[in-house]
Amino acid sequence: MARTPDQIAISDAELAPFVTDKDAASRACGLLQQQRGVWDLLRTGYDSLQSVKTRVFEFDGFHIKVQFNPGRMTSTAAKVDPNSIRERKCFLCPDNLPPAQRGIPCEGDYLVLCNPFPIFPEHFTIASLHHTPQAIRESFASFISLTRDLGSRYTVFYNGPRCGASAPDHLHFQAGNRSFLPIDAEFAAVKERGAGQLFESDSLRVRTVEKSLRHVIAFESADADLLRRAFDALYAVLQDGATEGVEPMLNVLGFYTRGEWQVLVFPRAKHRPSFYFKEGDEKLLISPAAVELGGICTTPREEDFEKVTREHIVQLYREVCVPPDTFASITALLRPKLAALA
Ligand SMILES: [Zn+2]
Repeated sequence: MARTPDQIAISDAELAPFVTDKDAASRACGLLQQQRGVWDLLRTGYDSLQSVKTRVFEFDGFHIKVQFNPGRMTSTAAKVDPNSIRERKCFLCPDNLPPAQRGIPCEGDYLVLCNPFPIFPEHFTIASLHHTPQAIRESFASFISLTRDLGSRYTVFYNGPRCGASAPDHLHFQAGNRSFLPIDAEFAAVKERGAGQLFESDSLRVRTVEKSLRHVIAFESADADLLRRAFDALYAVLQDGATEGVEPMLNVLGFYTRGEWQVLVFPRAKHRPSFYFKEGDEKLLISPAAVELGGICTTPREEDFEKVTREHIVQLYREVCVPPDTFASITALLRPKLAALA
């Protein structure tokens, strides 16, 4: 039977045995412990995480991991065309959540939910209470609040509706453990080695990074509103010339450290690399989203895990990220807009 959001929300008393602290990150961690005890699908998902295998590919100053994760088949092979979406029951709508699934209300309109197909040792979906399409511009303020509130333990991230979100029709973010994505630990060093400076003031730094296979625009600030306006400026640049009402292709990773946000935006050119659509031996089932751009490429098929090469990884990022000339145009247009914010 369908439950209301109030019925899905776990009470403090139910959560109490699983939390050590009152902050949002500890509560989320506690929710996961509670849910593992009562929700079979989630327990199976975390059991399957035990059989994950990892390969590491070293590049100049950074590394990319490939994770064989059989539990990710549903997400990796998700059909996200409008017809398939219309024909399935939305798995993030409160009405359709399984009876054992509980959540923690946050940001007024969202529920922190455990993701039953984890990549991270602790993996959450933060879903809107409303069945409204994925849209980062309108939800960016919530995104950075969540990044702050969960930031002591988790990275919060966003996949655009055409860039890896398996529920493009239902607004949601995800969160997973800090330091799990290679880019988390490596970004400071990558930045040192060759970041372009787009803008710098006492309250905002915006840099570009191009030497890690991916093109990244990195915003750093302790001022939430300034950060939102800076992101908005980038959004306007990316949307320029695109179809009205269609979100530009992007993934976003948010980190919060010592009172400051670091928001990494990856403008995208394609949803999936060409080898995803090949048949037989040439096919590789890797469907890049924020996690992949953060440096972990997941594949649900062991055969793909065995045969993936360094060249495949280079090809994957080259195909799905914007090409150098497009990135140069984006940054050239963004620079004066950022200067105008100060
Ligand atoms: Zn929905």
